[in-house]
Amino acid sequence: METFQQVDKNDLLNKHFLPHFFSDEKRLQTVLLITFADLKQHKVLYWYGVPALMPAQGKSITASKQEWWGWSGEEKALFWENLHLMRKNQGRLDPCFIATKTKCVSLAEFVSVRGENDLLFAFFDFSEKVEDLFKGPASMGWTMRNLVAYLCFHLNLGGQSVSILSFRGQQLRRWDVLTKPQEYDATLDHSIVVQIQVPTKDDYDWRFNSTQVNSPPEYRSTGWELNVRGKPGPRWMNLQPLLDPTHLAIQAADLNLKLMKWRMIPELQVEKLQSTRVLLLGAGTLGCNVARVLLGWGVRHFDFVDYGKVSYSNPVRQSLFTLEDCHDGGRPKAEAAADALRQIAADVVSRGHQLSIPMPGHAAVEEDAVDRLDQLIQECDVVYLLTDTRESRWLPTVMAAAYNKVMINAALGLDSWLVMRHGGGFGCYFCNDIVAPENSMKNRTLDQQCTVTRPGLAPIASSMAVELMVSLLHHPDGINASAPKSGLNPFSPTVDSESPLGLIPHQIRGSLVSYTMMTPTVPAFTYCTACSKSVIETYLNDKSATVLQACKDGDYLERLSGLQTFRAEAASKFEDTWDEDDVLDEE
Ligand SMILES: [Zn+2]
Repeated sequence: METFQQVDKNDLLNKHFLPHFFSDEKRLQTVLLITFADLKQHKVLYWYGVPALMPAQGKSITASKQEWWGWSGEEKALFWENLHLMRKNQGRLDPCFIATKTKCVSLAEFVSVRGENDLLFAFFDFSEKVEDLFKGPASMGWTMRNLVAYLCFHLNLGGQSVSILSFRGQQLRRWDVLTKPQEYDATLDHSIVVQIQVPTKDDYDWRFNSTQVNSPPEYRSTGWELNVRGKPGPRWMNLQPLLDPTHLAIQAADLNLKLMKWRMIPELQVEKLQSTRVLLLGAGTLGCNVARVLLGWGVRHFDFVDYGKVSYSNPVRQSLFTLEDCHDGGRPKAEAAADALRQIAADVVSRGHQLSIPMPGHAAVEEDAVDRLDQLIQECDVVYLLTDTRESRWLPTVMAAAYNKVMINAALGLDSWLVMRHGGGFGCYFCNDIVAPENSMKNRTLDQQCTVTRPGLAPIASSMAVELMVSLLHHPDGINASAPKSGLNPFSPTVDSESPLGLIPHQIRGSLVSYTMMTPTVPAFTYCTACSKSVIETYLNDKSATVLQACKDGDYLERLSGLQTFRAEAASKFEDTWDEDDVLDEE
């Protein structure tokens, strides 16, 4: 510790930087690190230095003008190719280089481009904040300072005005896998050109103007990192939390996602997924499986809505429950599912809401059910519709449409499944129907009321539902992301999408009889009993009254949406078209 404190920091920088900078190798970038490890306290003291040549007292590097890089898209695309070429020829990539509109060369090849128009001295700039760049050269980082010093000492440009490109391309690390280098990286548009007056050699000499005649020049470097308080000083790294199992668990849980982002999909927005608030309507077979896959994608904010209790038939298929949850009549499913998630991932924030979703055809409506559900839907980012009856999907569909929320709907048959997204002008679950939802449980025996489905179906549909959401959230248009045209060949190699994860279908329909899937795209229906304009507007106008009316009055939704009139008109047109004799002939 004493050695760390007593070591002459400036001397260290000068010793490790200046000889290299002035040598034949002309190393522009040097990094220094001094550390002290306190093994008892599990703390490490460290200080980074990135040395740069410092102008003498009273002198500085001045910029006369700075602006966005003004090259056209084609010029930038050509620039990309030239950069590739230079890298290939050299077998490496230097932190600084020279760019003209026709080629890229290393600093050492300056003679070959001297005097050309639009000459840019470029350096790779990995600064995060764009606005910092406009604060002047002091905030441009050590690479640029050393580039300027290089121009002075090695290219003899002292006293001249030069253009320097702060070059920002984010996809550099993927160069070896890029197949189409001509498609330039849009982040290049953040690159900036600065006009710099290069200081003279004397401007760097700390003994210049000294009284000593013929004294040799003295050069100094600077570059110790500032600490968290913004002052020159070392930083502490506390490794204590790494001994905490919760912390370790949180770090480890996302490892797979980080690897995926690092190695395969740099556009992956892990943080966005982590902060996405998901509402799961239904904590049954689909709800449990969807939640499991969401955990895998790093989602950590969950709300479950379910009215039921965990029964002995549930745990084998509903992966968040155990026999413990079934005793004494069973725990409320929503609450048990929310608790289970916190047992799986340490940083999950989850809540369970025991709530019966009001349904058309079911007159009994819990007192505050509409308000509670409405509130939950407003608070979340994505709603999953995973209930087991058709009519229980109606009100959430209306609400999600009213608040323009991403809604993913999954439904199971015996051996087929459907996953679809609502919104964005595409049809909802009810858009294909020519009747309003009603009580589908009426006049059914118990075995007909239970969802009878092949056990492998729910995990398949749940995975599809989550993958669809993840792709959608990565699309710049989000809920309005376009869907592929129906009939597209799924194995076509030219599949193209703005989402880094690929196409975003409107619907996915799969069958376990034929082991096939289809991805139809269906537009919204003007007279839909759930997502049509008239239903949404009436709902927003008086939420409770609209829902109560829909639950009690079987024809209300068909009247409200205009479906009844539409159907009557369609029927009369049909009668006009068909002559009775034609029908008789058919018979
Ligand atoms: Zn609809």
